[in-house]
Order: sequence, then C-alpha cells, then structure tokens
Amino acid sequence: MMTPPTEPIVGIDLGTTNSLVAIYDKDGPRTIDDEQGRALLPSVVRFEADPASPGGVRTIVGHDASDRAVEFPTTTISSVKRLMGRSLSDAAEDLPYLSYRVVEGEHNTARVEIPLLLREGSARAASTGAAHPAHRILSPQEVSALILRHLADRASLALGRPITKAVVTVPAYFDDAQRQATRDAGRLAGLDVVRIVNEPTAAALAYGLGLGEQRKPLTVVIFDLGGGTFDVSILRITPNPNPAPDQPAFFQVLSTAGDTHLGGDDIDHALVRMLATRMRDQFGLHEPRAQARESLPGSDSAPDPLANLDPATRRALKQFAQAIKHKLSDEDQASVRIDVAGAGVFQTTVARDDLDALMAPWVDRAMACCRQALADAQLTPKAIDAVIMVGGSTRIPLVRQRVREVFGLEPYTALDPDRVVALGAAVQAAIMSGEAKGALLLDVIPLSLGIETAGGAVAKLILRNSTVPARATERFTTSVDGQTSIKIHVLQGEREMVEHCRSLGVFDLRGLPPMPAGVPQLEVEFLVDAGGVLRVTAAEKRTGKRAQLQVVPNHGLTREEVDRIEAESFTHARDDMARHRVVDLVVNSRLDLKWIGEQLARHGSALEPGYRRELEVGVAALADLAARGDADWRTVDPNDLHHAKEALDRASMRLQEVAITASLRQG
Ligand code: ADP
Ligand code: MG
Repeated sequence: MMTPPTEPIVGIDLGTTNSLVAIYDKDGPRTIDDEQGRALLPSVVRFEADPASPGGVRTIVGHDASDRAVEFPTTTISSVKRLMGRSLSDAAEDLPYLSYRVVEGEHNTARVEIPLLLREGSARAASTGAAHPAHRILSPQEVSALILRHLADRASLALGRPITKAVVTVPAYFDDAQRQATRDAGRLAGLDVVRIVNEPTAAALAYGLGLGEQRKPLTVVIFDLGGGTFDVSILRITPNPNPAPDQPAFFQVLSTAGDTHLGGDDIDHALVRMLATRMRDQFGLHEPRAQARESLPGSDSAPDPLANLDPATRRALKQFAQAIKHKLSDEDQASVRIDVAGAGVFQTTVARDDLDALMAPWVDRAMACCRQALADAQLTPKAIDAVIMVGGSTRIPLVRQRVREVFGLEPYTALDPDRVVALGAAVQAAIMSGEAKGALLLDVIPLSLGIETAGGAVAKLILRNSTVPARATERFTTSVDGQTSIKIHVLQGEREMVEHCRSLGVFDLRGLPPMPAGVPQLEVEFLVDAGGVLRVTAAEKRTGKRAQLQVVPNHGLTREEVDRIEAESFTHARDDMARHRVVDLVVNSRLDLKWIGEQLARHGSALEPGYRRELEVGVAALADLAARGDADWRTVDPNDLHHAKEALDRASMRLQEVAITASLRQG
C-alpha cells in the first residue's frame, strides 16, 4: 500500500506592495502563478457592497483592486502591512501616505475604517436600489488574511489539494506584536503558520546559502528595495556542526537598517511629476478639468503631484510612469503616448539618464543605510561575502551600480528579485516537511556549462563534474561584419547543439562600434561560486564594454533529469561530435571564403591566370561543401570539409602576399 504523501506546506511572501506563494516539489522551489501567468499578487484589497446580497460586502483582491485604486481611494486598502501589530500612535507617520481612514481599535490598536453604501437589508429594497451609508472597521490582520487566503486558494487550485499549512515571511525588524499579528492573519485565513521566517533569511535560503556542504561561516548583505520600503540586513550564516534535519545552519541577524518610506513608489511619484510638468508644457498652461472626486484623508500633508487631476488621468499617469520605469531598467530610453481626452496626444521620451538623475537622492539614502548597517555590525565592506538583491526595484541599473561601488562586489542577482523571498519560504517549508532532502545541493557541477557559437553549436567552458568553485575563460570573436551588439546565450547540458541543451539565459553585450567579422576580441568568463551560482561575464577587449548574467543552473533540476541528460549524451555522442565539427567548419570556411572573395575582386587582375583559376576552383569546391553542410550536416563528411578548407588555405598564401604588398604600397 502506498503511504499518503506528506501534506504540502507553501511558502508565502506577504509583502507591503506584492505577495507571492511558492511550493517546493520534486523539481525544487517555484512560485505558483495565477491563471494569467502572473506570480505577483498586489497586496491590495477593495471592499464594496455586494450586489448579490442585501447588506453584504464583497472583496476584490489583487490586480483588479490595485488597478482601480485611484478611483476608490477610501475603500481600497493597500500597504496594510505597515499597520500590522501596531498602535495608532506607532502608525502615525505612515498615515499621511494612506488614502483610507485609520482609526483606533481596542488596546490602542490601528484599524481601518471603510465607508460603504450598503443595500437595504431586504431583497425587495435591494431591487429598488435603496442604500444606506455604513462603516466597516477591520483589523489589519483581517485584511492580510484575505490576501493569504487568496494565495492559499491559488496554490490549492494549482496543486489539486487543500492547503492548510504555510511558512510566512516578515521583515527582520518586526517585533513580537507584528509577528503575532502575522500569525493571527494566517489563522484567520484558515492557515496553520508553521513558522515565521525573516525575509533576509528566506532570501539566503533561496540561494542555498547555509544548505550545502558549506565549509566556513558566511557574512552576507540582503539588500531589499521594494515598492514602499527599503531594508538592509547583515546576516551571519554558520553551518550547524551536528546537522539536524530542520536546522542545517544558523542564521544570525547582525544588524538591520532601512527606511520605511523609500522604494519604487517614490520613483513612480517623481516620474509622474515629471510627466505632469511636461504635459502642462506641451499643452500650455492647461489645468485639467476639476472633477468631483472622493476626498483623500490626509492628502494635505501627503505630497500628491496628481492632486488636481481627474482620477482617470491620475491612474493613466501612474501606470505610464511605472511602465517607463520598468522599461528603463533594460533600455536606454522609453517613450510614452497618452491620449488626453479633450486636449490631444501627449508624447514624450524619458532617457535612462533622466531617471538616474531623478533617483540619485533616493539611492544615496539607501546607500547611507548600508553604511549604517555595516557600522552597527562593526564590519567593513571587505568582510562581506555576498550582497543579495531582493525586491523589484533592485532591477534598476543605478541601484546595482551603487551597490557595486559601495561593497566592491558584483551583486547576487541570479534569482528573480521579486520571487527570492517566496522561494526561500518554500525552501524553509520543505526543510520542515522533509521534502528538501532530495535537493540537489552538490559540491560538483552536475552538467556542463557553455555558450552558443555560430551555427547553433555549444562551446563548453566548464565540464560536468568540475568541483565548485570553478572558473573558466575563453576567447571568441564575431562571424558577421559590423555587429554592434553580441548575443550571449548560456546553456547547460552534455550535447553539442543548442537545441539539445537547456537554456539558462541570454544577454547582450551592447554598444560596440561596428567592426569587421573576426576583429572583436570577446572574452567570456564563467564563474561558479560555492553556493552554485553561475556568473557569466562577457567583455570586449578593444572597447572595454562588459555585460553580465547570473543564474542558478541547478534550480528546478532533479537527480533523475541529470541522469537522463547524461545518458542521452552517450547515445548521441558520435553524431553530435560530427555535427558540431561540421557546423564549426562551415562557419570558419565562410569567413575564409569571404576574405578570399574580397581579395580576389581587388587583386585578381594582378595574379597569374593559372594561379587565379586554381584559387577559383578551390573556392567553388569549399563553397559547395559549406552550402551542403549548412543545409544538412549529414550530407558532408567533416573530414572532406576540413581537407577542402586546408587546401584552400594553403593555396591562398600567395594571394595573401599580394594583398599585404598592395596594402603596404598604399600606406
Ligand atoms: P514589496 O516587497 O514592497 O512588496 P516588491 O519587491 O514586489 O515590493 O517591489 C515592487 C516594486 O518593484 C514596485 O515599485 C515596482 O515598480 C518595482 N519594480 C518591479 N520591476 C521593476 C523593474 N523592472 N524596474 C524597476 N522597478 C521595478
Ligand atoms: Mg518584499
């Protein structure tokens, strides 16, 4: 008889701006998406009268609530995490930033008050539409419970079984009351919160720090820049000398620092202000129509650049600002086009530099917090082994650059910064349920790592079974003239062609001046650290341009998969080698043919007719083999191709002399 599987425990990141749920199964930790494929759930809940039940209230959780928050400021509850386990006086400094009303509950606790227009309490009255104003007073725990329940339902739908247990994360600085409030929110959501984990500890667990055969203690910085808050923590991770199954290492918080009003929202506001100003300039001193809008409690003390815009324009500007900000994390500039009703089309472009200038003061504040955390822990940047980037706003290049400057380290970005905390919560859950035992936490690299080269072949830089840490570098060049950007495709596997390997990621080395094929000197470095994180750096030697990618190659990889991939590579070894050889020979032959063609066109008339014919025959023969090899590698013998190429190389010696002499004479 089969034993019933252990009950799954989910990991939940209950964030100020966004929340996520993750599970650890046989493939390792992964976040669970909603039906539209989105992992993030905005931590936003709207309350409204339920049209289906007189006197009833219904709730809208997540994207729908967040998208329309500007329209329903007093009934949409966001950032409720700021109120968890706090008294009204504790929360005083946050109140100006909240668009809804916060009142005092029993024992001086903070509560949210939601004004509703409820339908009369009879079906007949409901049909006549009669409604009466009412207030709902809810504890922050009750609001958080709705978010937790939503995520648990998502998980149970995806996993096909009820979810009753969860590991939930909280900021390291949360006090006992705030932690207890988080547990209570879980209980109200029908969840047994089996453990509360610090967010920075979860981030470290997601990277496997403290899980593997860690030899020495590590000191790591967790740099968490989210939507509304910035938290930096310094952790000491000490391996447990007598490994207990649920406590592989000790995570000690050495210091924390941060700013409760520093994050992506500030950048959004600054961008909105910039857009609103440009809009006003473009349309002349046009004041948007004043519209009746719901009152914003505390809005006089909160700087609201949108205060005199109508809700629809405010919502549009806010969404455009965010889209621009996200785009500028990847591109050098972003454009917007907004149809402003009654005024015309507003169009503008924001450059990465504009945004950097706008953000500089905020990033400076974050870096000051980092120095504070170091000072409190009595450490210098040299003592730090890794800086882990957490939170959506750490995708911003300026943030990464400043981290690099202050810590003298390349920040850890191999895992999606939105998901790190949830993934770590799932790892903690799996340690507790025993699921994590089969995890691949190895001292050796289980599968080879390499990059794609011309023709779809894979050049391996680090071979399987190398011990970690491992490092390798190799030189490459281009096979096409005038490439101003080079795509680096990182692959894992034992086979020779891209299509048979696992893609780990792609990045571009950009901003190269156009150079002829073969001239750029591209150095690619692979570095796998003790935690199993792969860092790929590509640098062009002449221009000094660099680009980087980080990944955790073994995330979501099981022992069985590794075995299967290995077995397949043996089965296909002979074919694969032949194909790889043909592909490489075709690429190199083409480069030779191109050069010889150019020189023949230029100096052909200066050659003896017999020699010229000999070259033309050799060119035709190699071109034919290369074309056939390109169409189908099976139709050519790599040795034939190799010999034809060698023969033409030898024959073209004289042509080379002629070309060099001619160029010397010219110069
Ligand atoms: P929290 O921990 O506060 O819940 P998150 O870690 O989810 O917040 O971060 C949300 C913030 O990250 C938002 O302000 C969002 O605009 C920002 N963000 C997400 N992706 C990017 C990106 N590509 N570039 C810049 N900011 C981003
Ligand atoms: Mg967060």
